[in-house]
Amino acid sequence: MNLSEAQELEAKHLLSLYVPIRFPIVIARGLGTRLWDTEGREYLDLISGGRAVMGLGHSHPRVVAAVREQAGTLIHVSNDFYTEPQLALARRLSGLTGGMRAFLCNSGAEANEAALKLARKHAKAVAGDKIEIITAYHSFHGRTYGALAATGQQKYHAGFGPLVPGFRYIPFNDREALEKSFGPQTCAVMLEPVLGESGVFPADAEFLRLARQLCDRHQALLLLDEVQTGLGRTGRMFAYQHYGIEPDVITLAKSLGGGVPIGAMLAREPAASTFVPGDHASSFGGSALPAAAALAALDAIEQEGLVENARTVGAYFLERLQALGREQPVIREVRGLGMMLAVDLNKPLAGAIKLACLARGVLINTVGDSMLRLVPALILTREEVDQGVSAIAAALAEVGA
Ligand code: PLP
Repeated sequence: MNLSEAQELEAKHLLSLYVPIRFPIVIARGLGTRLWDTEGREYLDLISGGRAVMGLGHSHPRVVAAVREQAGTLIHVSNDFYTEPQLALARRLSGLTGGMRAFLCNSGAEANEAALKLARKHAKAVAGDKIEIITAYHSFHGRTYGALAATGQQKYHAGFGPLVPGFRYIPFNDREALEKSFGPQTCAVMLEPVLGESGVFPADAEFLRLARQLCDRHQALLLLDEVQTGLGRTGRMFAYQHYGIEPDVITLAKSLGGGVPIGAMLAREPAASTFVPGDHASSFGGSALPAAAALAALDAIEQEGLVENARTVGAYFLERLQALGREQPVIREVRGLGMMLAVDLNKPLAGAIKLACLARGVLINTVGDSMLRLVPALILTREEVDQGVSAIAAALAEVGA
């Protein structure tokens, strides 16, 4: 299938939700950090499949083998039954998080919905009817109604009101605003440890510590959305581990299934026990196939040193981009933590740079019109960093930055 055939089919049969953001290529296959289009051209994928999902790289052999094996054995039974892959996955996630208990689902938004519901239910159990949840401006928590209301970006709310009530937004990293907004009416704070979608802004340690203290003082829950930052992406297994705090709840998705859709809401006791039978559920949640994929993905992350690689190669990537920034006045700022990186430009050239990189066989993403965003797979090598940085440098020269 070529590009014009794909575009024609899209126009006829798909809702027009993604038209302006699509790369003008049709992807046929992937392996590791590489993708190939239907014309046979090869690309270095610095965005993990576009949205940071393919943290292990494409078609990781452990995930492929586990999916093949599990698909031939048992794909799905509902939560009316026990299955070994689901229980093994829950035990594994529990081990990684110091004993959190899991609700398994299918996406990041769905994991966040569960976290928001748990927070309201917990508040009822401990402190009456308080419903308010504090989140940050420029956050991104997903597109379902609760997650959308939690997302502090007006542009995603427009046209969909009335939203779920009870959300209050504060500027990210603003301790004074957090303290002022917090009170006996607050049942939870939901934060990304590193703002992802809006351009890789890590939380300050003091901000997260204050959130923890205020939650403790007011019997509120600290919910950390690790949908993007979790599972090694920032150079630690979970981003909260950079900060020396313990959240009550974390949410995961993206890298968890090695590309197979799966999400998880993990909660610590005593909050975890406020969900009782019937409070929440999912038909597909924790099916045998995605659970087996996730177990294989966790094996890869832990046994192949991917967290360490994300930390060291991510730091090298940051250094190389900062060096480029010293040579190129159009680069205003470079930010990064592990394999989450952003380059701020002082001209609206991001779209042109993305296309110029594409022409050089390198896939990067943009935020708005003057920011580049990179979320490569955790397996990226230093040579691939060099290739990516050379492509960005050449793209800057081409667009006359
Ligand atoms: N939370 C964060 C931090 C995200 O980055 C995303 C997606 O980009 C989501 C939640 C929503 O995840 P999903 O698209 O799987 O619903």
